[in-house]
Amino acid sequence: MPARSTLQFLGAAGTVTGSKFLVCDGDVRVLIDCGLFQGLKALRLRNWKPFPFAAQDLSAVVLSHAHVDHSGALPLLVKRGFRGPVYCTSGTADLLEVMLLDAARLQEEEAGFANRHGYSKHHPALPLYTTADAERALRLLAPRPRGDSFVVRHGVSARFRQAGHILGSSTVELRLAESPDAIVFSGDLGRWKRPILHDPELVQHADVLLLESTYGDRVHGVDASAQLARVINETVDRGGVLVVPAFAVGRTQELLWAIRKLEDDDKIPVLPVYVDSPMAVNVTEIYARHPEEHDLEMRLLTDARRSPLSSHRVELVRTVEGSRALNERSGPMIVIAGSGMATGGRVLHHLHRRLPDEASTVLLCGYQAAGTRGRALEDGAKTIRLHGQDVAVRARVERLDGFSAHADRTDLLRWLRGFKSAPREVYLVHGEPDASAGLADLIRTQLGWSVRVAQDGETLELAPS
Ligand SMILES: [Zn+2]
Repeated sequence: MPARSTLQFLGAAGTVTGSKFLVCDGDVRVLIDCGLFQGLKALRLRNWKPFPFAAQDLSAVVLSHAHVDHSGALPLLVKRGFRGPVYCTSGTADLLEVMLLDAARLQEEEAGFANRHGYSKHHPALPLYTTADAERALRLLAPRPRGDSFVVRHGVSARFRQAGHILGSSTVELRLAESPDAIVFSGDLGRWKRPILHDPELVQHADVLLLESTYGDRVHGVDASAQLARVINETVDRGGVLVVPAFAVGRTQELLWAIRKLEDDDKIPVLPVYVDSPMAVNVTEIYARHPEEHDLEMRLLTDARRSPLSSHRVELVRTVEGSRALNERSGPMIVIAGSGMATGGRVLHHLHRRLPDEASTVLLCGYQAAGTRGRALEDGAKTIRLHGQDVAVRARVERLDGFSAHADRTDLLRWLRGFKSAPREVYLVHGEPDASAGLADLIRTQLGWSVRVAQDGETLELAPS
């Protein structure tokens, strides 16, 4: 008899984007995460292919967190007929309101650009999805608190636990009707003792575990704020501008926190800091609105009636004119702008302006996926293609991975040691091949568990009841 319950890997297997896992339990079909593929063109093209399931037949979606590589295909799912509930935490729901609309706007802009420049194979070029699709998706959000399990459909239930990665982020435990297997999805895991958010919560039991492996082959630098102080002070000494391509969600808030703290401790001079991203500004407000997500230090500082997510001379730049005007200014100053991997957004014109300047610094402080400008800079490219021109890289390029919101291999092991016994099956997802393979080796040698790197498209049969 064929298994009544299965799990299929439909994204983030052998790569770090496009997170999608389909769990079928009898007639119930639940999609865990609904992420966009990003980075290399071959990956991005996958977003345009039909889903390997009928969107209208899905019972529900459960989201681990709001990052686009975990949630950004939701409007597409709705466009293709999905009408069920989308379960997530309330922090995730608030972030999605900003992020899905932004993702839709980017899709629309990209199609508009292709039409104006006539480089699309399709006439007219169409966006992957529209603002209207994103708005329809937002109406399906059904926030659920962490801690208690909730019904997804019929005998299928889920439970969120703190993942400590970004606001609202959670691990997902799924319990089925037709199989006794407890399935745990790590989503993206955060780190211990980071500012602002709670630490990740341990999980004690899983029969089948899907574990992210983004930094499975790396250990983050220990003292990121000391490195940040060095980079800022060296840039100040040269009279340059520090340009930080930063994700609007999580990274920008952590940077503001760290800069404010360095200023408070007299480790750096008080500098003008421009947050040049309307989305980062909105997201910072959402972070402030969710005290249940804040760790003790953040709560204590907030009680002192001063936002800890703000440096002493911060300026929030919302308009395009304000953004352009920054090009006329000279350093020292700090510009934080999206996108985090320099794939688009306002950071592009800052890079165009400052990369040829030897006094300036570009600070990469997050994961830089293969195929992005951020990765090219990280790999020491001498020129970078921007607005159709090759721009010389004379500015210093520095990398601080201590600011990552992702667990490194030490954090991942610490989280795994929380399990009372080895899960029967462990699959590594959400990692480039070397990172996943490195983590698999570590888990085998340190924990003695059997573990596999998930294969794209493979289907796993769950235990029958
Ligand atoms: Zn994430």
